[in-house]
Amino acid sequence: MYCRNCNQDCPTSTSGLNQTGILLFVVLILFCLPLCWLPFVVDSCKKHICNKCGFPLD
Ligand SMILES: [Zn+2]
Repeated sequence: MYCRNCNQDCPTSTSGLNQTGILLFVVLILFCLPLCWLPFVVDSCKKHICNKCGFPLD
C-alpha cells in the first residue's frame, strides 16, 4: 500500500475498524447480531496503518 508520508510503498498492518467498519458493525448489532463479527474479518472494514511510520492509510 502506498504511504503518502513515506512517499513509497510500505508494508501495512491493520488496527481496529475504519468508518465503514464501525458503521457496518453498528448496523449488524441492530439488525443482525449473529453476524456482528463480520467487519473484523473483512479487510476493507479495517483501518490500515503504515508499518514504517504509523501513518493511517485508506
Ligand atoms: Zn509510512
